[in-house]
Amino acid sequence: MASPLKSVRGTRDILPPSSALWQHVEDSARRVFARYGFLEIRTPIFEATELFARGVGEETDIVSKEMFTWEDKARAQSEKSQSLTLRPENTAGVVRAYIEHQLERTGLLQKLYYIGPQFRRERPQKGRYRQFYQIGAEVLGPTTSGSESPVRDAEIITMLVDLLDEVGIKGWTLQINSIGTPKVRALYNKALQEALNRVVHTLCVDCQRRAIANPLRVFDCKVPADQPVIQHNLPNIHSFINDEVGHESFNHYDGVLKILKAVGVHFETNYRLVRGLDYYTKTVFEFTHGALGAQSALLGGGRYDGLSESLGGPRAPGIGFALGLDRFVMTLEDDPEFKLPASATITYGSPRVYIAPLSAAQDPDAAKLAHELRGQGIACHLGDGSFKMRKIFETAEKLNVQYVVIVGEDELSSGVLSVKDIITGEQRKIVRYALASSLK
Ligand code: AMP
Repeated sequence: MASPLKSVRGTRDILPPSSALWQHVEDSARRVFARYGFLEIRTPIFEATELFARGVGEETDIVSKEMFTWEDKARAQSEKSQSLTLRPENTAGVVRAYIEHQLERTGLLQKLYYIGPQFRRERPQKGRYRQFYQIGAEVLGPTTSGSESPVRDAEIITMLVDLLDEVGIKGWTLQINSIGTPKVRALYNKALQEALNRVVHTLCVDCQRRAIANPLRVFDCKVPADQPVIQHNLPNIHSFINDEVGHESFNHYDGVLKILKAVGVHFETNYRLVRGLDYYTKTVFEFTHGALGAQSALLGGGRYDGLSESLGGPRAPGIGFALGLDRFVMTLEDDPEFKLPASATITYGSPRVYIAPLSAAQDPDAAKLAHELRGQGIACHLGDGSFKMRKIFETAEKLNVQYVVIVGEDELSSGVLSVKDIITGEQRKIVRYALASSLK
């Protein structure tokens, strides 16, 4: 016999009842985003490889080693062969769409959110998958739309705090940093590189690679032995931000923090927080959760003032974030105190009603009754007449319903149905027209 096939390494199936938690997070996000005036965008799951090479950065881990890329051969003379990639993140796709559809012409800030799968060939482990799901949002637009204002950064961070509340995740930590304008970063990178040259031989292999390819990423290092060196021997970007002519980065950072304080958002500043993608400027932030263990990042984001131009578009400063849906769900599953709100249980949970015809002759009437109830907003399972009374109740119990509505010959002719409450054991007679309201 052929051996059964399994899902591919790093991918997984989301089965009920866990899928109800996924829907809860997704719907909470849609509700909160709507309050902040964000609308949904859906971009393709694969794009030209060049988009990520240019938008995310050749030197990043994502582009240099984690992308699922293939050569798409031309199938007709009118087509060209091209290199395609499953999207490893969604910001580059959103900015490409912004440019392609000339959204700058509206003159308005574009506030867009997305929900969908992303793909990275990482080493799979708990909380890290090769197909994972992100919910993210971007706000970008011409400078005349206010897209550079610290108000935007603070608004998006505040929205995330509301989202965590709405979802029911407690105990998170928010860290913020500024990595400056590209001008500041160029000066800082030079100083960092020089400092690294002096100490790099004492650092781990990964840091030795980072020191050459992407020095800022040295701050991502989690190796305990490296920490004192990183702490004491490398320059702090904030001294560069404070020295900057015109104080652009400093004023922006200060503006963001002032608004967050006024709104009552709790945050920690962390000068070592850098983000993995090349496009970030000024504000970067991350929400973490202790219960997640090694993969503690719930979500991350930052400002990307030059991204549109680096993709060949008009100047369109912006800021965005991406949250790990897998990790949001894990956090909820690991919290013994978390319970799905009643409204979510009704929408995504199993029906509480089981319609049980007593013989095949009642199947059509039972189906009609089920159809009527469903039309009145009552979710129900429908049995069939081959089941005997004992099997009906066994099935009802397995399905975890509360009520069994018995549809027999007598019930149909009298128009009075028997409804058994499995929890209390009580059986009641209810006239058919009152059934829906009594089950609600
Ligand atoms: P990034 O785009 O790398 O900043 O990712 C944003 C968020 O997506 C992270 O904070 C994680 O919550 C989530 N994430 C990133 N990579 C993975 C992965 N391989 N598996 C699951 N979640 C991920």
